[in-house]
Amino acid sequence: MSDARFRASARLVACVAISISVPRTAPCSGPPVAVEQPPSVVVVGVDAERAAAIAGHAERVRRTAFEQLLGDASPAAWTERCEIHVHATPAAFAAAVGAAPDEARGATSLEFAAGRVALRRIDVMGDGPDTVPDAVAHELVHVVLADRFTAAAPPRWADEGIALLFDDAEKQAAHEADFRAARARGLDYSGADLVALEEYPADARRQRVFYGQSAALVRWLIARRDAATFVRFVRDSQSRDLAAALERHYDLDTRTLFDSAWKEVPPIHSLSFNNADTQ
Ligand SMILES: [Zn+2]
Repeated sequence: MSDARFRASARLVACVAISISVPRTAPCSGPPVAVEQPPSVVVVGVDAERAAAIAGHAERVRRTAFEQLLGDASPAAWTERCEIHVHATPAAFAAAVGAAPDEARGATSLEFAAGRVALRRIDVMGDGPDTVPDAVAHELVHVVLADRFTAAAPPRWADEGIALLFDDAEKQAAHEADFRAARARGLDYSGADLVALEEYPADARRQRVFYGQSAALVRWLIARRDAATFVRFVRDSQSRDLAAALERHYDLDTRTLFDSAWKEVPPIHSLSFNNADTQ
């Protein structure tokens, strides 16, 4: 959920902190040599065994996101490691993240300094049956994208629409159903309004429409090229207007985008990245 570009002060969570090393193939002319890469994430709030599973998952999602979204198959480890705080209760989650959209299962906090990310933090609910909290991959995508969007946050629709591609199929289907139901009743956003949204809708029902419709628009665009092209388009749209960026990267005009995107959204299973990882 929210890519809150704020954080008041450091919070101390009394818990186990673990990290893992990920084998990485070093580029060289000889046989591949596995080298140890420093960990990019730290998991806190759970026992060591569970923390190791979550960290492994997060490292794999991170690599997938860098490769698929940013075109970087061998991303350097984050020197400012991403803290993943796992919360056992909604009260603990709320205490950590403050105000959050209703029904939120995760939150991402980022700080920037001197043109780079200076603090990465994810808070997730860890009360479900799965070892790896369901929101980890989604939130990590927000963190990965921040490496490319240090000057300004990505537009909300693009940031959430991409992150949703890393959610499990059941979640994505629910978001899609929210959007389709709203559209059937004429309660969806106009394309122009959706891409202009700077804040999350305050109303929980509108939030659900926003998420579902953002995901639909992102899938439609990614299906025309690939995810890395989409990210370049989003960045370009911040330095020039949306129409110019759309024409440059997709040879489309905004009217075609807003008229067509909702009619032919690719099926969820054809464009998800959630199966790129195993728990
Ligand atoms: Zn999100």
